[in-house]
Amino acid sequence: RDQFVRSGLMAPILSGSELLGVISVFHAEPDAFEDSHLDLLVAISRQLSLAMKNVERYEQVERQLAEFALLQQMGQVFNQRLEMQPLLDEVVYQVSEVLGYPVVNVDLIEEDELVIKATRGTGHQPTEQEVRMPIDRGVVGRVVRTNRPALVSDVREDPDYVALSPDTLSELAVPLRKREEVIGVLNVESQELNGFDADDLRLLSLLADQVSIALENAALYDRLRQHSTNLEHTVAERTAALAKALDRSREADRMKTQFVSDVSHELRTPLSNILLYLDLLRQGRSERFSTYLETLERETERLINLIEDLLAFSRLDAGTMPVNTSHLNLNDMARNLVEDRKRLFAEREIELRFEPSESLPLVRGDERMLMQVFANLMTNAMHYTPAGGRVSMASRSVQEDDEDWVILMVEDTGLGIPMQEQEKLFTRFFRGSASRKMGNPGTGLGLAICKEILDRHGGRITVQSRPAQGSIFTVWLPSASAPAQMGFDFDPRIEDQPSREEPSPSAL
Ligand code: ADP
Repeated sequence: RDQFVRSGLMAPILSGSELLGVISVFHAEPDAFEDSHLDLLVAISRQLSLAMKNVERYEQVERQLAEFALLQQMGQVFNQRLEMQPLLDEVVYQVSEVLGYPVVNVDLIEEDELVIKATRGTGHQPTEQEVRMPIDRGVVGRVVRTNRPALVSDVREDPDYVALSPDTLSELAVPLRKREEVIGVLNVESQELNGFDADDLRLLSLLADQVSIALENAALYDRLRQHSTNLEHTVAERTAALAKALDRSREADRMKTQFVSDVSHELRTPLSNILLYLDLLRQGRSERFSTYLETLERETERLINLIEDLLAFSRLDAGTMPVNTSHLNLNDMARNLVEDRKRLFAEREIELRFEPSESLPLVRGDERMLMQVFANLMTNAMHYTPAGGRVSMASRSVQEDDEDWVILMVEDTGLGIPMQEQEKLFTRFFRGSASRKMGNPGTGLGLAICKEILDRHGGRITVQSRPAQGSIFTVWLPSASAPAQMGFDFDPRIEDQPSREEPSPSAL
């Protein structure tokens, strides 16, 4: 070339102060160029540098457009996943298969810990065993704490790095956010040093924004679904409760109708007997007057009893029954009742016993109301026990559920109560098979009155019974030796507590 080149021109191709190259022209003649040629070459070199820059820009724009289209496409795919887990699985799939990062994790914050929710290329299945990590550890933890991406070109030199996959050499992690707040981390790992550059960082950050939006939608969708499931449950529950209430109110209604006809019947029988015997008194023979009068008296008493029961209930219903509480000794009350009924039981050839516990704590209650409870139980025991049977009353003090109770049991060897009737016994107007068998007058109110009265005393009534063998009705009242619970002053008279005995109903 040297033999042909005699003169030349050169100009730098500059981008700002950066030298991109040199443009040269040569000539075989000496002094072939003038200053104007040089000016022209400088102008050309400027044009060239501009053109080169444009090409570079064009390539960049083209790349960005391609990325943009890709991201948009992925965004659409994400938005089709409405539920959380399928969405997370889709994200790691797309990042790995479409963007070509072989090792991908999505971690979400749960209770101040990072939990790996979806993963690919790590050989680990999050569903098999949950991997959790405190947010004060690891590169991902740092991303959460700082709310900034982390590009680690050599994990061995990063003090925060915690090895989950032993082959990882570099890592890129970007935050997932809900509004400004970090909710998790998207991270990719490489088995090479410097596996990621600024372009990867930019691309993954853009993607993280898309994922964040999709995550928020999925969380909303999950909540909506949870809400609608709850709503379904609530509706089902309420419907069932309503149906039950309706059943109960129908049953109550049926019982009330039954009651009205029972009461009318019960009222009519003694009333017509009374009329009949009054007639007999008027016309009959005087030597039979005393028998007539006895019947009249019995029928009148029956009427009065019935009306008393009805009144007791309507008073309880209206809440007008006065509660005159005082300290009561159930042994004394039971003893009086047994004395009172002795003759009646003897007439019916039923043995009557009383087995008091030696020293019984007092109870606090309304004497008249409690007496009515015990009298009702005695009357029932008498009505439902055939001649030759036995009725016994017994008292005890017991401890149950950390509470002291005084109990009074009325036990009989009578007809007993079938299992299916036992839970209905304390319902108003309920009359069982025993009442039909014995044909005794009654209203089905006695036990309901007992229950109501005991409820008002913080007590209860329970029953144990076997058909054809007998029944035990047990009245439970809080012992008055528990001042805090009953809310009255400690009574020194009851300081000496008897030993605690469990009720031991004799074998049924
Ligand atoms: P009543 O005795 O007026 O029918 P209660 O409310 O006192 O009403 O009793 C309800 C039902 O419980 C009775 O109809 C009877 O079937 C059953 N019952 C109550 N006490 C006894 C008992 N000691 N033995 C057998 N059955 C009983």
